[in-house]
Amino acid sequence: MKKITIAIDGFSSCGKSTMAKDLAREVGYIYVDTGAMYRAVTLYALENDIFQGEKIDVEKLQAEMPNICISFRLNPETGRPDTYLNDICVEDRIRTMEVSNRVSPIAALPFVREALVKRQQEMGKDKGVVMDGRDIGTTVFPDAELKIFVTASPEIRAQRRYDELKAKGEEASLEEILENVKQRDHIDQTRAVSPLRQAEDALLLDNSLLTIAEQKQWLMEQFNRVINR
Ligand code: C5P
Repeated sequence: MKKITIAIDGFSSCGKSTMAKDLAREVGYIYVDTGAMYRAVTLYALENDIFQGEKIDVEKLQAEMPNICISFRLNPETGRPDTYLNDICVEDRIRTMEVSNRVSPIAALPFVREALVKRQQEMGKDKGVVMDGRDIGTTVFPDAELKIFVTASPEIRAQRRYDELKAKGEEASLEEILENVKQRDHIDQTRAVSPLRQAEDALLLDNSLLTIAEQKQWLMEQFNRVINR
């Protein structure tokens, strides 16, 4: 059967990764979470004194970029890929609020985007990939056969993120999360390099009021439509 490239972009915490992971498993494709890659660079920066208060030591980060190796390995227990930074599993550490609060300014740096986009293009070069992020359909794979742009209201997205952190036993404040969601939306949409926007040929999915099952069905319909074309 022919293999295609599937780009799933959209706002933070709108369930992109859940739908992308499920779709990849269902159709036997590789799944790449590009947000995890920007988060891993942010974690590296936090752990290597690259942040000085709110400021980023841009020169130091740029010099360190060749030493930041990000990979994914399947976790046999969850059946999902875990993120590794220089051969150490950082899957949990990249999901903390500390990383969420710092990731968007790191992701706005052109040399960070250039390095990660190149790596993403290598990972998806043989097609048969579901990649989720902010700029997959516009920059990483502008020729992707299926592009989805996902959105939901900020309040619903904050609530989902809150429930997720609580389920993991983490302390969280709904107001702080809502503030973080809105701030990341703003930085992601207004940055100079590949800002978050819907590609002209992307299908819009507002999942504010959809269940995971309804969303999954819609996605499978889109996949089958493209694959049988
Ligand atoms: O998807 P996730 O919320 O984990 O992404 C974390 C952050 O990484 C986003 O808020 C955004 O700033 C950045 N990002 C990006 N481009 C991507 C994926 C994520 O700029 N392709």
